[in-house]
Amino acid sequence: MKRNDFISIVLIFGLIASLSSCFPPFKPKEPEIITDTITTDTLLPVKEITDDTLFSIPISEQTVMAILFQQKSAEYRALCYQAFNMARIMLERDLRDENVILPRAVIVDIDETMVDNSPHSAKCIEKATSYPEYWDRWCNLGKAKALPGAVEFMKLARNYGVTLFYVSNRKEHLREATVRNLQELGFPQATDKNIILRTAESGKENRRRAIAANYHISLLIGDNLADFSDIFEKKSVTDRAKVTDSLRNEFGRRYIVLPNAMYGDWEEALYNYNMSYSDSQKMAIRKQWLESF
Ligand SMILES: [Mg+2]
Repeated sequence: MKRNDFISIVLIFGLIASLSSCFPPFKPKEPEIITDTITTDTLLPVKEITDDTLFSIPISEQTVMAILFQQKSAEYRALCYQAFNMARIMLERDLRDENVILPRAVIVDIDETMVDNSPHSAKCIEKATSYPEYWDRWCNLGKAKALPGAVEFMKLARNYGVTLFYVSNRKEHLREATVRNLQELGFPQATDKNIILRTAESGKENRRRAIAANYHISLLIGDNLADFSDIFEKKSVTDRAKVTDSLRNEFGRRYIVLPNAMYGDWEEALYNYNMSYSDSQKMAIRKQWLESF
């Protein structure tokens, strides 16, 4: 071998070694627990809105722009593709981690994560009502469409031998329609065994732990922060932001987030999880939260 050839080979190996050190195997990190003081957001005294002109518009109308963003904006589609592209990159990175002994699993939420329920929200506007009205009827149709990129990602993960779990807060009486809807859309492993619906509690932590007893959880995918960890559950608006900031490195890594401006814990937190407020009180609270200049 010539001296120049030897030097070239050494340089190539050196380059490969330095590149691989730039991309170390993906080692998921458990969320750090926040032990700071818990903040309780204080709402100003909530008054009924007495302005007839304002109250003549049903509160459901306030969701119009959120629904249009989901149904008609190409930006929403792009965000979905971005989420599933990131999921693919991180899954493939995790697959290269030779320290993983347990079989791998991906845990996904269903609503606004795998399928689009915006027609239900649109029906609520049409009828000037809100969830849970029309929810069962919508689910039983089994006509929700897949989010852009969702089926393709799930098929890819399954082809890699990853087990898929659909952990949803849909209730058991919607199981048959849910399985039918997901299967017709082509979602792999959309079976009774792998679709884990709401039991006695809405929190998903126990269901995630039961899976983690037998699997290495490569990724969690959801539209609600409680889809990732119970550390987000029932937190005030202020603390949701704090915990999210403290876990900033997990997003786009082990936690893959889909956008949902129509509903979610983010809205319930606005009311300190007191959903018994009247529509006009909710409207007043929403306005309290707005930041202007
Ligand atoms: Mg969801």
